[in-house]
Amino acid sequence: MGWIEREPPEMARAIHLAQSTFPEFQRQVDLECFRIVPAFDNIFVKVFVSDDSELTGEHVFLSSPVITSTTISGTLASEPQALLDLPDQVEVGHQHLADWFLEINDVGVGGFTIDVLKSGVPAEFLEDYCKYPPVSWYNHRTLPAEEELLQHPVCETCGQRDIIGWIALRKPVICSLCSNGLQRMKCQLCSYPIMRHSTQPEKCAHCTATGAVH
Ligand SMILES: [Zn+2]
Ligand SMILES: [Zn+2]
Repeated sequence: MGWIEREPPEMARAIHLAQSTFPEFQRQVDLECFRIVPAFDNIFVKVFVSDDSELTGEHVFLSSPVITSTTISGTLASEPQALLDLPDQVEVGHQHLADWFLEINDVGVGGFTIDVLKSGVPAEFLEDYCKYPPVSWYNHRTLPAEEELLQHPVCETCGQRDIIGWIALRKPVICSLCSNGLQRMKCQLCSYPIMRHSTQPEKCAHCTATGAVH
């Protein structure tokens, strides 16, 4: 039995939603690597880490994640509750992704598991719980994360749902990629999902940084 199946059904559904939208998140993280001025105020992931037996495990937050076509690594940004000897730098495979978070001006995209976490907090602690990031980034949310996602506009040009551009533009008819002349593609070397202008090299930030060649 995998770690997701051991989660309560509500949480498992939220994790599947985070995983199914992960490529769009990866594209944003990749492009952010090339920016001199960052577009996002915060980029976080939540991952499942376990000991060697895979019997004891927990979810931890990682800040400023570095993502390759197969791995996610980052700096531990939450206090481990069970795995006390977890190193500061954590690396897991993509299959261990539990959630992703992009934040601009205290408004978050992603955060699919936040609703589920909030539903487990006793009423008298909820107000406090909602004061702090990453939970506070989703206080704007009036619909369950899954329904909110369906509200995001479908781009007239590429036919894809604009998961991210919504954060800045709210209701674009053409998604933020198409309106900037970008196309979704995969890194020619490692298949990492990216977005590029037609004149730009189809190589992800990781392959660019490591100088990998065709
Ligand atoms: Zn589009
Ligand atoms: Zn690559």
